Amino acid sequence: MPLILLPPFGGDKRGGMCYTPDMILLTFLKGVRPMSPPISAMISHLVQLVEDKTTGPVACCWCNNRNHFIKHGTYQRYAFTTDELVRIQRYLCKNGQCNRTFSILPHPFLRITRFSLCMFEKLLELLKQELRIAEIARCYDLCWQTIARAIATGKDIFSWLRQEARTDPVWAPKPCLHPHLYWSDFIRVFAAKFYPKRYGKTAPTE
Ligand SMILES: [Zn+2]
Repeated sequence: MPLILLPPFGGDKRGGMCYTPDMILLTFLKGVRPMSPPISAMISHLVQLVEDKTTGPVACCWCNNRNHFIKHGTYQRYAFTTDELVRIQRYLCKNGQCNRTFSILPHPFLRITRFSLCMFEKLLELLKQELRIAEIARCYDLCWQTIARAIATGKDIFSWLRQEARTDPVWAPKPCLHPHLYWSDFIRVFAAKFYPKRYGKTAPTE
């Protein structure tokens, strides 16, 4: 297991690179630079959080019915930007008016995007520290285009979160701090806000 040092003990002040001898050897053998260890550590931690399977209360994401549903198989999705697959529970809404399938994503998965809130946050932090997109892409071991898209999405998400935090009452204060209370509701509103064609009220059955 390679030694991973997080800033301020490891990496440079930009949250950048810190290589152990194992990693340097691996880099030499593969001919590529590895993912930045602080980013890699963050993603490993996120994968562990997913294994806790913390969600908010189960509710149909189309009609908000919280009482009549049955388990309805599973599907797999990638654990963030890794190749690992995680099984997600599907449900069938038994509200006669609805009868659609839905899934409940465990914290900290978001709909559609493979980034989590803190992955977006770190991305914007690196940008603020004036790293170029190509440098950030190397930190995440992703391509330039993916990072450029994620930066645009991250800016939209955080501007929306700041706006929501000014509402009274705040509808989901810090969903990551209390995922067992808020995560499912947060995901539902997040999906309707950012992917309205697919998750808005008039979206077709998934
Ligand atoms: Zn329903």
